[in-house]
Amino acid sequence: AFSNLKNAKRFAIDIGGTLTKIAYYSTVSYRRINYEADQDNTVSSEEQNKYELSENARLHFIKFETKYIENCLDFICENLVSSREKMAGKTIKATGGGAYRYADLLQESLGLSVDKEEEMDCLIKGCNFLLKNISDEAFVFHRHGTPEYDFQMADPNIFPYMLVNIGSGVSIMKVESEDSYERIGGTATGGGTFWGLGSLLTKAKGFDELLALAESGDHRKVDMLVKDIFGGDCKGLGLPADLIASSFGKVCPKRGTETMCSEADVARSLLFTISNDIGQIACLYAMMHKLNKVYFGGYFLRNHPLSMHTISFSINYWSKGTVQSLFLRHEGYLGAIGAFLIGAE
Ligand code: ADP
Repeated sequence: AFSNLKNAKRFAIDIGGTLTKIAYYSTVSYRRINYEADQDNTVSSEEQNKYELSENARLHFIKFETKYIENCLDFICENLVSSREKMAGKTIKATGGGAYRYADLLQESLGLSVDKEEEMDCLIKGCNFLLKNISDEAFVFHRHGTPEYDFQMADPNIFPYMLVNIGSGVSIMKVESEDSYERIGGTATGGGTFWGLGSLLTKAKGFDELLALAESGDHRKVDMLVKDIFGGDCKGLGLPADLIASSFGKVCPKRGTETMCSEADVARSLLFTISNDIGQIACLYAMMHKLNKVYFGGYFLRNHPLSMHTISFSINYWSKGTVQSLFLRHEGYLGAIGAFLIGAE
């Protein structure tokens, strides 16, 4: 899939509200090949070029927090641009809101000029490329199923589909062909909301800790379920006993009682609140536009089973099984991959 990338600019950057993602290209194989000098990184750059001609083109990915963008720029300076390239006045491809916000900083600190690309163009380009070219990139997730991950083959016939990008906020796009797509909706309740509220409600330091808390919590101590109201199923409305009736509804203090929930319970409930809502909104948009395949991108999911299950459950529940939810292994890097590909054209 990368065979036409020989003339690509070597990297592209997607500077989002929370995370900055880089996709960079190398032709050095990390597999040990039968090459004398390939020991302990002692291959000189010239020798690397020799084996660049082999078919070992690879795309690598790395992310930084946008609030520490200096670290990201240091990484680029140390690893991705040579002084020769600076002298030659090379340009780099940049997308995401930060491509605009930090254009001057990028230009000054890297000494390269910045080619800005529209965020949506990059997202769609990256997504189309992965779906068309990379087998096992997209998968359906069935919790406790056999198999749990139902990987999909690369397929040239991918249209139409809907892409829900869950980053700091959420964007929903309808994609009808390589060059016909539009943003049909979104919600401001996204990954940033989970992290922001989670930081207020727990002592978790960082996103990973918050996710680990959610993993171990019990949301039934925080959420009011149908059975908390009806004592069991609500037969009249067809609602099962364990369905959440009110997120966080159980923690309203009653006189003379103490709330008995832990930070982990709260984190789990928060993850469910956000993921259920995104699933429901996505499902409504899909049904409104008569699209039955929904792919999820953005860095929020992290291929995390609990989040993927909640979203799949929600979509399945609200669409009565008519809309399929699919996830992507490189979900967080669609924009960076798209910008990289545009640079290679
Ligand atoms: P944006 O482009 O708006 O920055 P992303 O697709 O990069 O959006 O997703 C950002 C979201 O990813 C955060 O709001 C958070 O919910 C989630 N996330 C996942 N892993 C991390 C992490 N290690 N650090 C920060 N946020 C993370």
